[in-house]
Amino acid sequence: MSGTNIAPNQPLIRVENLCKAYNLDHPENQSACHQVLFNINLEIYPGEFIAIMGQSGSGKSTLMNILGCLDTPTAGSYWLAGRNVATFSSDELARVRNRNIGFVFQGFNLLKRMTALDNVAIPLLYAGMNRSESRKQALSFLQQTGLGQFTRHYPNQLSGGQQQRVAISRALVNQPQLILADEPTGNLDTQTSQEIMALFAQLNRDRDITVILVTHEDDIAAYANRLIRLKDGHIVQDETRSTTTV
Ligand code: ADP
Ligand code: MG
Repeated sequence: MSGTNIAPNQPLIRVENLCKAYNLDHPENQSACHQVLFNINLEIYPGEFIAIMGQSGSGKSTLMNILGCLDTPTAGSYWLAGRNVATFSSDELARVRNRNIGFVFQGFNLLKRMTALDNVAIPLLYAGMNRSESRKQALSFLQQTGLGQFTRHYPNQLSGGQQQRVAISRALVNQPQLILADEPTGNLDTQTSQEIMALFAQLNRDRDITVILVTHEDDIAAYANRLIRLKDGHIVQDETRSTTTV
């Protein structure tokens, strides 16, 4: 999908009858096979802002990992920007994860021994940019997320909200079309959560980045314009709303 611009009327993501089961390395033992996603069908268009909700264990992270090309389905298909992900080589998968998708996690997942600036620069270095240019770009993204003063801080010198802004900057540096955030406010207080959500909303609105985020909280999901609810591995609700809170 690199270098491809998706027409607004073409889905960025198309998932057909997608299933995921674990323990398939012992197929003779059916009882050991644990299915966690059942016939998931989804079309997601460029510029959507989606909240995925559902109880713990309902398959949200499993679905996010498949959408992020970090894991593969056991049945069904996943088309990303019009291409069947099952046909990607491992190099292509790595490239898509690096360039086209930004990941944000509940636990921030920053490298502890690196400064904020160097954490943000990692995806650029990985994509082949030289050190000084990558630092310049990383600085620009830290400034855009309000952290221009904190470039030399290490993660343990930053608050949770600041660490999540570093993680969001890192997710943004390669200018992905898609951001996947798995409970990004799960470790943050209410005020900080609202600030982080306002940042996602701004990225979605101003840069047209497609945002898919998992949350347990209704007031966080309220920022999205589409709500998908999972229950025991099934989609039980998929509703588009016309208004957002910001
Ligand atoms: P959620 O994010 O909604 O809490 P998950 O997608 O993490 O749910 O997990 C869904 C189900 O899949 C759970 O029952 C979990 O135990 C199981 N599961 C998740 N990852 C694995 C794995 N690597 N191996 C086996 N079972 C797993
Ligand atoms: Mg989860």
